[in-house]
Amino acid sequence: MNRLNPNQMTIRRAGNAAQSPHGISTNTFWFENLVEGCGDGDLAAIRADLAPGTITKWHSHPQGQLLYVLSGRGLAQVEGGDVEELQAGDAVWFASGEKHWHGAAAHSSFSYLSVQPWMDGRNVDWFQDVEEPR
Ligand code: MN
Repeated sequence: MNRLNPNQMTIRRAGNAAQSPHGISTNTFWFENLVEGCGDGDLAAIRADLAPGTITKWHSHPQGQLLYVLSGRGLAQVEGGDVEELQAGDAVWFASGEKHWHGAAAHSSFSYLSVQPWMDGRNVDWFQDVEEPR
């Protein structure tokens, strides 16, 4: 799988999805690295496909995250806020360090594109499980 070269046009061909690591969500999900990056300010971008009811743990992104819903119905919550419903075409911005979770609604699959810049060798910080998502 080719890593993005910021100095030239790069095409990532379809069909290179991988299983998510264990321990970051209630079930593993398929995701595809679209842009990997690695250095401060580089973008990491993925497409993710979650089965119904699959949600992430609480987490934050050191430089924020754009999440754009491609299909299905999803849920998202910022710490202290209400659970928000998401559908295709919705775009969500999570600010730098803002603790949140997101995932598929109980009875719908959920696909999204997300972009999260790198900082200090990471683009996400994971916290505890979501106790009562809905
Ligand atoms: Mn996130």
